[in-house]
Amino acid sequence: MTTTFSSEPWREHIDRNPRGVIEVSGHSWRDLSLGSRARAALFLATEVGEGGVFTGLALRYAIPDVTEIDRRARELRPLHAWKTASYKTDRTLRPEQHRLEVIGDHLWLPGIRARRPSGISRVQVRRVVERDGYCKVCGAVAGMKDPFPPYGSVVLTAGHKEPAMLAQEGSRLHDDDLQAECAGCNEQAQQYTGTPEDLPRLAQDTRRLNRADRQQLKRWVQAGKRDFTLADTLYARIHRLTAPERAAFLAEMRRIYGAADGWAA
Ligand SMILES: [Zn+2]
Repeated sequence: MTTTFSSEPWREHIDRNPRGVIEVSGHSWRDLSLGSRARAALFLATEVGEGGVFTGLALRYAIPDVTEIDRRARELRPLHAWKTASYKTDRTLRPEQHRLEVIGDHLWLPGIRARRPSGISRVQVRRVVERDGYCKVCGAVAGMKDPFPPYGSVVLTAGHKEPAMLAQEGSRLHDDDLQAECAGCNEQAQQYTGTPEDLPRLAQDTRRLNRADRQQLKRWVQAGKRDFTLADTLYARIHRLTAPERAAFLAEMRRIYGAADGWAA
């Protein structure tokens, strides 16, 4: 058996539908001067085609110079009338696969302006993240080790408290509708990059909880959100301190609780 080295490994991660692709003259997804969302759109329209199947990995292999190219592709759906299906709605797909159903706006054409993802402005994201300071879903704080794969550092973004609301295009979002979320918990971010959960393992892991913690978990699951202890929220606030503030805080702890309490710098 011979193994051939493919210089275009993305080809192994798509199932092209030749009848679904469109011919685009004068533009290529390989064109580095195009915006990243336009390149993702071109890749899907010309290589995958309507009815074709692709994975996030295909996009990352094809356009490796753009970080999070699969997220740019994800934005085509709410912002530019593209339609895709996932395993959640189409049982013939594997969890990592997506079927391109409808090619929407031709982003590579002049005059089709890229819109902001989810209608949340950059400034608004910054305000909401600054206000909340930690992921309101799981409690992760920015910079700590991500509790979710691929286990990088937690980066906070803003998500809608009611995720379905994000799809309503053109609706102006008020800060009160938004909450800080880590990428692992953000519904939109998960649509393309999410790693499927190992369900038997997840269920088994609950055995490591004592009864009180298991009951608490049950309440959170039933409520659809967790609550945070005072220690959780205090930690999130302390985590955001600058180095001098942190030193002053620790000194204050030693003053209040005494050296024996162990609040060393
Ligand atoms: Zn989170």
